[in-house]
Amino acid sequence: MVKVTTTGQKMLIGGRWEDREETIEVRDPEDNSIIDAVPAASAEDMRLAIREAKKGVEQAARMPVYERAAILKKAADIVAERKELFATIIARESSKTIREARSEVSRCVQTLQLSGEEASRINGETVAYDQVPGSENRLGYYYHFPKGLIGAITPFNDPLNLVAHKVGPAIAGGNAIIVKPATVTPLSALYLAEAFLDAGLPAHVLSVITGRGAEVCDPLVTNPDVNMISFTGGYETGEAITRKAGVKAIGMELGSNSPVIVLKDADLRLAVEATVSGAFSAAGQNCIGVQRVYVEETVYAAFAEAFVAETKRLRTGRKLSETTDIGPLIDEREARRTEAWVREAVEKGASVLHGGTRSGAFYEPTVLAGVSPEAKVYWKEAFGPVVSLFPARDLDAAITAANDVDYGLQAGVFTQDLNKAFYALQRLKVGGVMINDSSDYRVDAMPFGGVKGSGVGREGVKFAIREMTEKKVVCFKLIQ
Ligand code: NAP
Repeated sequence: MVKVTTTGQKMLIGGRWEDREETIEVRDPEDNSIIDAVPAASAEDMRLAIREAKKGVEQAARMPVYERAAILKKAADIVAERKELFATIIARESSKTIREARSEVSRCVQTLQLSGEEASRINGETVAYDQVPGSENRLGYYYHFPKGLIGAITPFNDPLNLVAHKVGPAIAGGNAIIVKPATVTPLSALYLAEAFLDAGLPAHVLSVITGRGAEVCDPLVTNPDVNMISFTGGYETGEAITRKAGVKAIGMELGSNSPVIVLKDADLRLAVEATVSGAFSAAGQNCIGVQRVYVEETVYAAFAEAFVAETKRLRTGRKLSETTDIGPLIDEREARRTEAWVREAVEKGASVLHGGTRSGAFYEPTVLAGVSPEAKVYWKEAFGPVVSLFPARDLDAAITAANDVDYGLQAGVFTQDLNKAFYALQRLKVGGVMINDSSDYRVDAMPFGGVKGSGVGREGVKFAIREMTEKKVVCFKLIQ
């Protein structure tokens, strides 16, 4: 098995591990130390990967379902066996703590297991052709055929499981796939690829190209031999990719600035614990992280006091320590950006209830009140450990405010009143509503994705497989 080295990893093209003279250093955001290096691929490398992957398209489509399922389940077992290695890689290259990293590895194992299970449940359905006059003597149904070659571009914040969310469904659906992981966190994807090769995946089915997205991704996005672009990342990058991709299938899992609503009948202790965790896990670098909390006026003061007290209990520190709750941001630039956004919110009238200080790449978990809708932390995606609390007159006012942004991934609602829960569910413009939980709840089997600027399409293994396969219909005209 390859080890985390400082001498350099290779990237995977068509079953061959390849290096390049030019490399990109992988650094630990905690202290900026170099932990490894990966090849700096070029656009030509991406073209080569696409040519090689065409063989993978044939190999993948020829694999019977039981083989796809066996490889996926074997890969899940291998990742589970190497759990501590994967967790350490995540906790070094990304900003997650070791406990957060272990939980991501467990999620990855589930994602791959689910992919193996769903591979055998890719079923079509019969079509009632005789619902229109003139089609009385016709019978038929549809299949899901592989799309072919999937181009996957992934972000830094879940460097393993978000890659698994593309590779697992792609293989389950009988496709080949090229992954371009985030430049700052390429190692998890490379080690996952190694697990797949060890599990017996045919050589050309999976390639992992390391390199800077702006330099290497255009051939992937624009080449007609790539049948689908499955992207997870920020809105601006996603929009730029969509413009370039032309007529091809696209999956866009983008960001958000998720709202949570807390009504006066809610279990406040539960609401505080879940919302603090949802706001600050992964140092707030989480697409469904809580960014805005609307609390019914009569309980606002009690909620805010308990929220700040719970936030104060969080321990910021070294990622590999078992007692650390919050690590650094992905780099100091991001921490400085967060600092600037909080400063701007304060200049526009906000008060800092807790936090607001930076040290290198670390930014203290920060709670704001009185944030103006003009401030970036209100309407943009903060993607850092910053949350804003707002009093709301009633549920309608909270829903209106929650919807008052260009994003719509997930929302949370705390209430013990079923009618209010359903009322909110019907009116919140998001892809998922979590009742008595924060927006930060996901299992890998559920349909996951957003509306508005939060994206197009759905992931979640079964749903991603649907997006990565084509329906092909068959109709038999009976000669009688
Ligand atoms: P990002 O900057 O948009 O980068 C995402 C990926 O796109 C990286 O691999 C990046 O490569 C690549 N990329 C950059 N420029 C590109 C270009 N011109 N053409 C093609 N690809 C390009 O996002 P991030 O900062 O890594 O991740 C954070 C964002 O992801 C947040 O907005 C978060 O909400 C979102 N996210 C969404 C979900 C979801 O499921 N909805 C889940 C997790 C994260 P380089 O690294 O080389 O620049």
